[in-house]
Amino acid sequence: MPAVRGWYELMPVKRTDKTPMPQRDATDRAQDFDEVNEGYCFAHAMFEAERCLRCQDPVCMEGCPVRIPISDFVHAIAAGDLPRAASILRTANPLPAICGRVCPQESQCELKCHMAKRFGPVAVGHLERFVADWERSQPLGESPPPPWQSARIAVVGSGPAGLVCAGQLARQGYPVTVYEALHAPGGVLRYGIPEFRLPNAILDWEIDALKRLGVEFINNVIIGKTIALDDLFDRHGFSAVFIGTGAGLPKFLGIPGENLNGVYSANEFLTRINLMQAFQFPEADTPLKVGKRVAVIGSGNTAMDAVRSARRMGAEQALVVYRRSEAEMTARVEEYHHAIEEGVKFHWLTNPVEVIGDDDGWVTGLKSLRMELGEPDESGRARPVPIEGSEFVFPVDNVVLSIGTTPNPLLAKTTPGLATHSWGGLVVDEQKGETSRRRVYAGGDAVTGAATVILAAGAGKSAAEAIHQDLSAGL
Ligand SMILES: Cc1cc2nc3c(=O)[nH]c(=O)nc-3n(C[C@H](O)[C@H](O)[C@H](O)COP(=O)(O)OP(=O)(O)OC[C@H]3O[C@@H](n4cnc5c(N)ncnc54)[C@H](O)[C@@H]3O)c2cc1C
Repeated sequence: MPAVRGWYELMPVKRTDKTPMPQRDATDRAQDFDEVNEGYCFAHAMFEAERCLRCQDPVCMEGCPVRIPISDFVHAIAAGDLPRAASILRTANPLPAICGRVCPQESQCELKCHMAKRFGPVAVGHLERFVADWERSQPLGESPPPPWQSARIAVVGSGPAGLVCAGQLARQGYPVTVYEALHAPGGVLRYGIPEFRLPNAILDWEIDALKRLGVEFINNVIIGKTIALDDLFDRHGFSAVFIGTGAGLPKFLGIPGENLNGVYSANEFLTRINLMQAFQFPEADTPLKVGKRVAVIGSGNTAMDAVRSARRMGAEQALVVYRRSEAEMTARVEEYHHAIEEGVKFHWLTNPVEVIGDDDGWVTGLKSLRMELGEPDESGRARPVPIEGSEFVFPVDNVVLSIGTTPNPLLAKTTPGLATHSWGGLVVDEQKGETSRRRVYAGGDAVTGAATVILAAGAGKSAAEAIHQDLSAGL
């Protein structure tokens, strides 16, 4: 039976492929940390927005975790009404310039787009970035009024969950204080995602906007250590607390040699570069010893960021080693393609079993086994099975482990009555995001485990609504 054709395939209009994102030459960009993608100009954006079919059932919106009215903002672009496009976007997603750069659109809104079936989806992410960048180039409006509510709110952690929660509450008039353990706010957006994907200037613009709303940022404070969570209520007089502490505790493989010099967790590797500016050592205080051959273990966004950063730190051979196949890779497709263009080599179906070192304790190699795919495992993905006798050694100077992270247990351990799941995530009421402690709410990776920026932002937004409702109702 012939496939049933959708109405969109019968349209008389000539449709074209997705407008490519202008990007820097791969050889040049692999030498520095400047942004790879250059962004659409006005003509690109108009052309791309015109590709939208204006579907009566805008299924793209169903693919968006925070349900941005995508067709509305795309049509506003097509009509040349950028202020309206910006307003629609920002109302639904408080971090559009960030999400336009890092959201995995290919598995969300763009996957659902009817155009995807014949040509290529409307480039929702590129258009989101275009509108948000245009908005940043506009003069700032009038200063918002100072906070007028009497209840004060503490936000713990300044990643996307905390930033969005703080912003939403500040707009409702609450005085908000954000406590951050590191010396600069932003969470993974600052210490994890490199500037070649997300320039700090964009994050700083969002944080400055929150400061203009009256949000106070206090860095270098670990809640649960420097200040107990209960003291935020008892001594500091806050009426509610939002926990957005993320999932920054790296997992290790537990293989011999993991403690050798030259082995890093991806979080440490990226933090040294992005937050501590190790690429400017000795002008910056923090060093990072990167040799000529670096192997990164894993296949997610973090692995791509680590291996592409290794190239920029001088690695001539930068490898990704992953025990499953390309089909099971979890990184954004764009990052994978960029990594290939920048000379990264991928070794699929390869399982590291030992890190080998010299007499001085420095890494010299990564012993690995070739794998083949077997029956699906509990995750539904084909289980990698070792091929007998396939052992071999990659000669490398560094090994970077990027095999996942879990929430840091510190806050839960030091806060009586704060319930966690066995894997470390905070237990919350699904509707409100309230934890087992009254007036303590949580969201983002601290609740879900390592996930995405848009999900963390969405959780921060819902928790802010719940906090406002509970405080207004005197609950
Ligand atoms: C390298 C990397 C690349 C990624 N790339 C992408 C991508 O391309 N697209 C995407 O959608 N997602 C990506 N992610 C995932 C995404 O960044 C996270 O899902 C998101 O940042 C989670 O936000 P969050 O606010 O919950 O936590 P985080 O961003 O982790 O922020 C938590 C903050 O809380 C602070 N903190 C922790 N404990 C305390 C405490 N006790 N007291 C005070 N402060 C504390 C931390 O220092 C941190 O600043 C990536 C993650 C990594 C690590």
